[in-house]
Amino acid sequence: MTDGTGWQEDWREHIWLPYAQMKHIAPPLPVVATNGTRIRLADGRELVDGIASWWTACHGYNHPHIRAAVTRQIEVMPHVMFGGLVHEPAVRLATRLAALLPGDLDRVFFSDSGSVSVEVAMKMAVQYWLNRGIRGRTKMLAFRGAYHGDTFATMAVCDPDEGMHKHFAGILHENIIADLPHDDENAATLDALVARHANEIAAIIVEPLVQGAGGMLFHEPEVLRRLRALADKYDLLLIFDEVFTGFGRTGTMFACEAAQVVPDIICFSKALTGGTMALAATVAREKVFEAFWSDDPARALMHGPTFMANALACAAANASLDLFESEPRLEQVARIEAALQAGLEACRGTPGVRDVRVRGAIGVVELEKIDDLAALKRRFVARGVFIRPFGKIVYLTPALTIDNIDLKRLTDAVVHVVRQIPD
Ligand SMILES: *Cc1c(COP(=O)(O)O)cnc(C)c1O
Repeated sequence: MTDGTGWQEDWREHIWLPYAQMKHIAPPLPVVATNGTRIRLADGRELVDGIASWWTACHGYNHPHIRAAVTRQIEVMPHVMFGGLVHEPAVRLATRLAALLPGDLDRVFFSDSGSVSVEVAMKMAVQYWLNRGIRGRTKMLAFRGAYHGDTFATMAVCDPDEGMHKHFAGILHENIIADLPHDDENAATLDALVARHANEIAAIIVEPLVQGAGGMLFHEPEVLRRLRALADKYDLLLIFDEVFTGFGRTGTMFACEAAQVVPDIICFSKALTGGTMALAATVAREKVFEAFWSDDPARALMHGPTFMANALACAAANASLDLFESEPRLEQVARIEAALQAGLEACRGTPGVRDVRVRGAIGVVELEKIDDLAALKRRFVARGVFIRPFGKIVYLTPALTIDNIDLKRLTDAVVHVVRQIPD
């Protein structure tokens, strides 16, 4: 190990992998390099990446513009605490995010992961009411199918069946979990539910347009307009968790734009730095910020992660935003959407396939069930692609820069494996 070899086996000794039963885990693939839409394994094989590292690497891996920005920043100031100090990369990033976001979503609080950005949003919402002298509004209204993170407060707003509620029964904060208002009937049921609980609810929290890790479930922009109306009717805050959807993934820069809805608080992480550094942002509207504006120190927002607004990460995020300005990312998303639709269509009607759906640069094939996830993953690798089915779905969230050839390799692999065509 000390001589740099042998690590491919040594991972068993000290590494603890995510969501994995370590006793029976299929060995993870040793990766040594990434470039564009490819990942290179230790044995020299190169895989086309269909996931873009949990959809973070929106410009592909190792984009030279981001690399140069991070390299410049590391020479000057890799990190400095954000308590009592402020720096240009963070100020510029906050200013740019505020300018890009609709309405008066103007006040940016930085943290370092998607879960924490959601924690901060929920804390903001709860403290918003306390600061205004209104007690008892401590619950979130969240939705079936949701995924908002792995920390305790975020687990408690995930789908109660698909999420981890059963593992931690009795420990999680009690929230109100409902069906999304897909139609008028659902909307009326939800309205009645909220009417009963309005004075307990701090905020409505939702992943706009696409519920990601909870199953890649899509809903129409109208659902978000209904939620905005509901929040306005009962004077609740509306939180959009755009950790998945933010930065072009669904076809617009932010998913909220498609519905022309301005939430009160919005969360970003995943693609914020183009997948290069850990960074997250919780952005609030003026009215939220104003509830914290006071002569009373106890009304300050009580949060402050050690690595918040890390300068390297802010430099990476600024460089990522440059690329959204200088390169035709949203046009690329439209092209990917068409290619995913065409490429995955062949799965429809295949025995065992329940649904094929595409939105922006997200392609999903939902099966009746997947008996052997590990076998499926191996078959993808054997075909030279990295695709990670979970639950009952096989999905693609490639880099927005992927070319037609690599994209076709991905969709062909999905069709091939889903139809169980022998290699
Ligand atoms: C991934 C994700 C999170 C959690 O982000 P982490 O960085 O893994 O903590 C929260 N919300 C949504 C919508 C996500 O996709």
